[in-house]
Amino acid sequence: STALVLFRRDLRLADNPAWSAACAEHAQVLPVFIHGDDDGAWRAGGACRWWLHHSLAALERGLRDAGAGLHLRRGEPLQILRALIAASGAGAVYWNRLYEPAAIARDTRIKSALQDDGIAVHSHNAALWCEPWQIATQQGLPYKVFTPYWRNLRPQLQAVEPLPAPRVPGWRDLPDGLALAALDLLPRIAWADGLAASWQPGEAGAQELLEIFGDDALGDYARARDLPARHGTSRLSPHLHFGEISPRQIHFALERRAGATDPKRRPDIEPYLRELGWREFAHHLLYHFPHTPTDNFNPRFDGFSWAPADPAALERWQRGRTGIPLVDAGMRELWHTGWMHNRVRMIVGSFLTKNLRQHWQHGARWFWDTLVDADLANNTLGWQWVAGCGADAAPYFRVFNPVTQAKRFDPDGVYLRRWLPELAEAPLALLHEPWKDADLLRRSGYPAQMVDLGESRQLALEAYGALAR
Ligand code: FAD
Repeated sequence: STALVLFRRDLRLADNPAWSAACAEHAQVLPVFIHGDDDGAWRAGGACRWWLHHSLAALERGLRDAGAGLHLRRGEPLQILRALIAASGAGAVYWNRLYEPAAIARDTRIKSALQDDGIAVHSHNAALWCEPWQIATQQGLPYKVFTPYWRNLRPQLQAVEPLPAPRVPGWRDLPDGLALAALDLLPRIAWADGLAASWQPGEAGAQELLEIFGDDALGDYARARDLPARHGTSRLSPHLHFGEISPRQIHFALERRAGATDPKRRPDIEPYLRELGWREFAHHLLYHFPHTPTDNFNPRFDGFSWAPADPAALERWQRGRTGIPLVDAGMRELWHTGWMHNRVRMIVGSFLTKNLRQHWQHGARWFWDTLVDADLANNTLGWQWVAGCGADAAPYFRVFNPVTQAKRFDPDGVYLRRWLPELAEAPLALLHEPWKDADLLRRSGYPAQMVDLGESRQLALEAYGALAR
């Protein structure tokens, strides 16, 4: 019998439950990717489309090496699936689950339509340690606070050996697949050179980063993860988003590495697992509160007096021209590499939503288009957290001071100088506060600060005070 395997954001061959099950249970498999422009308001942004193109190229190579191929199509998924089933005689469809509200609605619809046609549909979990509906409070409710959520989930996690890439039984291809270029994922204007220089999309690239992280950064993660100048974190976020690696694979590899290390130097892997726990929590929240990509988690913020949308201010923020060095360095890192360090994400977010008092949706949208790891669950959690309106959020009155933060987490100015070449020669004392020297600004062409940090903080606190009353 023939099985159709629908790849989506599970672009790997190892530890891929849908792929493994189909290969084990059928004589022939037909791997398919359908590019549908049906994700509504959250259609993948430019940086993610670039990633997807290269990740599909890597998957295609992997499938070829395994004796199969990837059938690419574009259009309405159910219609295409029905045509493929008719042409191949397949009796079953396999996929791994997605958790975005639009994807759940679509998959539910497709599943029941195919079942009505007499086709077996098998869905699996490839992306999460635990399904979002499997974890609940004692009252049977979803969690809204991370710490108790993690206290519940963590003891349930075991480092289980992940599935190896299966042997392909037989490959069934069909004639009318598209070439990758026909999916039209790459940008028309060549702005992606910085992305290409920074990343290797695909399963092999993910495994390589995991190795590098284990060798160089795992032991010092708890401390160095806050230093944006260092490669102190794993940078696995885009690989996780596209399912090129799974939390199970990461957990098993780190546990094995820790176990093989001299006990006196055994690295503590808990702080890293906890961050993966935040990713699980973000999916838990998105599943149970599907309105939160656009609506405040905390409805009290519906009455908050955001400043009117200010396109000029927004553009300065987007381009890294605010005149606040750490904010600009982060926004330029984002534009150039499609990624930004977590601490800096919090700081640019705080600056936008508090010092500029622009609605967090403006920030979420810009990140959506420019991040290679743009992820509806994590991005929603991150922005609602920063803006103060989220579940388990930083309180609104916590306004990050980008100068103090830069002095603390980038004390030698390495990160600032890397991303702000016009300030590369500035003395350290001025690097953090270049507005103190008008001459430096004139010579370097670096902009003056667009708002006074102290005054704008005060205005934000007053706006918040009005809400609290
Ligand atoms: P590591 O420190 O190596 O962590 C390992 C993995 O844990 C990450 O790859 C990620 O999957 C997960 N993780 C770590 N921190 C968080 C967190 N705070 N929330 C959820 N998961 C986490 N992350 C995204 O993947 N996509 C987004 O669109 C996204 N948007 C964000 C927006 C804002 C405003 C903020 C403050 C954070 C956002 N994050 C997002 C979370 C975090 O910044 C990134 O996951 C992290 O910087 C990725 O780098 P890394 O892989 O080196 O992380």
